[in-house]
Amino acid sequence: MGPPGAGKGTQATRLADALSVPAISTGDIFRSNVAAGTPLGVQAQRYMNAGEYVPDSVTDAMLEARLDEPEAANGWLLDGYPRTVGQVAALEAVLEARSHRLNAVLVLTVDEEELVQRLAKRALTEGRADDTEEVIRRRQEVYRAQTAPLLESYEKRGLLTTVPGSGPVAKVTESLFEALSLSATRQP
Ligand code: AMP
Repeated sequence: MGPPGAGKGTQATRLADALSVPAISTGDIFRSNVAAGTPLGVQAQRYMNAGEYVPDSVTDAMLEARLDEPEAANGWLLDGYPRTVGQVAALEAVLEARSHRLNAVLVLTVDEEELVQRLAKRALTEGRADDTEEVIRRRQEVYRAQTAPLLESYEKRGLLTTVPGSGPVAKVTESLFEALSLSATRQP
């Protein structure tokens, strides 16, 4: 978890590779559906371009289907999900039905000005439709209003570890690994 621009995608890929599990990014799944012009992509696109969240009903169904793919049978790392109270509940239900559980919730933190600068830079290299200044600001607001409050419930469950996301990419990955091993020792 963490605000847009914190480095979730980059770090999720690195951690997942090292752990030999898939990194499942709801943002990437939406973007590939938009690119392919699927009905899901058509539905998601207007929300994404406005910096708003895609409705839970759409997102939850997509995530559940992805978790049922054979590649995800031995574990996974979620990038950018859950992001709403409803998604937290949906994820719990999905895990419970499969007798799975969360091992850890990792949050990357970066201060807001740096986030905006990073995303503005990414706009030049990746050309994402939602990396314009206005939409970047809106995405930060939506994160603060809808996603940041979720951290408390994971904190209460002893699952949450916050890791600073500034500095060299490899250093952040290292800190995440340390956080994961600490979290493993906290498990009952
Ligand atoms: P991301 O690549 O994670 O920054 O996601 C890009 C955009 O996809 C977001 O701004 C949302 O519009 C949409 N999106 C990704 N994940 C979710 C989610 N879990 N819930 C709702 N919308 C999402």
